[in-house]
Amino acid sequence: MRRFWYPPRPVKPLLIACDFDGTITQRDTLHVIVETYGAVNLWAELEPRLQSGEITVEQAMKEEFAAVYATPAQVREAVREHAPVRPGFSDFVRWCEQAGHRLVIFSNGFRSVIGPVLHDAGLGHLEVVAHDAVFSVAGCRLIWSERGTRCELCGRPCKRQPLRERWHGEQLVYLGDGISDRCVSLLADVIFARDGLAEHLAGEGVAYVPFDDFHQIQAHLEARVTVTS
Ligand SMILES: [Mg+2]
Ligand SMILES: [Zn+2]
Repeated sequence: MRRFWYPPRPVKPLLIACDFDGTITQRDTLHVIVETYGAVNLWAELEPRLQSGEITVEQAMKEEFAAVYATPAQVREAVREHAPVRPGFSDFVRWCEQAGHRLVIFSNGFRSVIGPVLHDAGLGHLEVVAHDAVFSVAGCRLIWSERGTRCELCGRPCKRQPLRERWHGEQLVYLGDGISDRCVSLLADVIFARDGLAEHLAGEGVAYVPFDDFHQIQAHLEARVTVTS
């Protein structure tokens, strides 16, 4: 009797788009930096101007960070102490790489903050799409990356544009926690959400998978990819 061996069907590689602050890290690094080195009560003055439309979010952040007087080393230390990486992230990156999935970080935060966190975790090779910030004792200067024209859905320089540029038609998975993830996450086949993003999606009736750590995300994707491949 002849016996046939059927190789397992190849699993289609995923594009996994992942927010940084509050998603990869347990706390928002920008909040940590402002809390530790920023001017007390400045946000209370900026927020009404922001709400009234006098200034944009970018202008408010520019003013807020101009009052952050700290060296890059001080910033790195504060972030290391107060915004640790969520459990399972390094394992998850390894799993993605072994399975052939592409993981790209899309952040509205700053490359000079994200880089050292990833480097400390041995993950300095990951692709990061972010803005940048130059920290010094004379105040922090923000450098906004080019995100094309404003998004037609949310009217902001949102993450949709940079994601579209890197998306080659794979099944898309999005991981996020906050306002900057609202618009872009709707492009995804599967959304993993927590905190404000989870609340927002629930309110909009959009399905998502809640998560506390990356082991849960990996387990969910492993099960799903096996079934649907
Ligand atoms: Mg976030
Ligand atoms: Zn948008």
